[in-house]
Amino acid sequence: MNMIDTSPNMAHRAHFVRQHFGSAESSGTLLKGFVDVPFITLSLTEPCVWLTLSGCNFKCRGCFSSARDPIGEPMTVERLLDFIEQSTRVYNRDTPLEAAVITGGEPTQDRDFLIDLVRNLKMRVGLKHVSLSTNGYLLDRSYVKGLKAAGLDVVKLDIKAYTNSVHKWYTGLSNRPVLNAVRYLSECKLDFRVETVLMPGVVDIDEIERIAIFLAQVDPQIRYKVVRFTPGEAREKVARRPSDDEIQLAVDSASKHLINVAGGKACVQQFAAPEQREAKKWIRVYPDMETETIVAKPFFKKESFTKETICSF
Ligand code: SF4
Repeated sequence: MNMIDTSPNMAHRAHFVRQHFGSAESSGTLLKGFVDVPFITLSLTEPCVWLTLSGCNFKCRGCFSSARDPIGEPMTVERLLDFIEQSTRVYNRDTPLEAAVITGGEPTQDRDFLIDLVRNLKMRVGLKHVSLSTNGYLLDRSYVKGLKAAGLDVVKLDIKAYTNSVHKWYTGLSNRPVLNAVRYLSECKLDFRVETVLMPGVVDIDEIERIAIFLAQVDPQIRYKVVRFTPGEAREKVARRPSDDEIQLAVDSASKHLINVAGGKACVQQFAAPEQREAKKWIRVYPDMETETIVAKPFFKKESFTKETICSF
């Protein structure tokens, strides 16, 4: 999932679209070759589009994504590419798109669809950079190889918890496939980074350090980010919001084992000096071409990072 899923109108709009286009999913199972798309989101400050594929195999208690449930229009890859091209032409810019972030929900659930989508984004649309945001559960070795061969540039993978009982309690499933996905990504040399949400009392600093130790055993150069839990956006308020000091302590703990560790809120400008940070604007486009504008205020808090990029995957 991503940090721009939380619009109050999104669930209503996507539900409308699901009702309108819902015949392919009325039994809860999509026809082969179709994936539910509730909306896409065009950046108005960068040549980038976020593609949201709905539905998820996890049931995270602190999930803040309305796209966790299968909502939106069932689309083929061809229909989604047309939707992107039409939206870009109508709403966006004179400059062509350069990058796409594929997110959800959980976008890996239909392997053939995702690989075909990545391939077409690179070959047909001509994007320079395509990234994937995933919980990693379904990424076995052949899937990782297929994504790399299709041209995927980078993966952002969440490790929700290292202790399996905590992971099962929080998501409903084991973390073993997720940890294996980290190994496969490293083995296949597909660029990736890992994120964990710090949730006091659920995923604490010691758990962050366990994840860092695991990652360091795979490769101490793996980029790792500690993300702040924001209970106001969560389905279940399973934890309080961690303080800046707690985030910093978690970053320091992970930094004992890993070289590239960052902390803070998901998807913020972390290398730019505060005075250089600008409000980011997106336009969300629904399959019926209705839109909604989203503004993310700049994040000015002083934080300490070793390495980070801006929303670029
Ligand atoms: S992986 Fe968890 S947080 Fe992400 S969409 Fe699925 S249930 Fe929500």
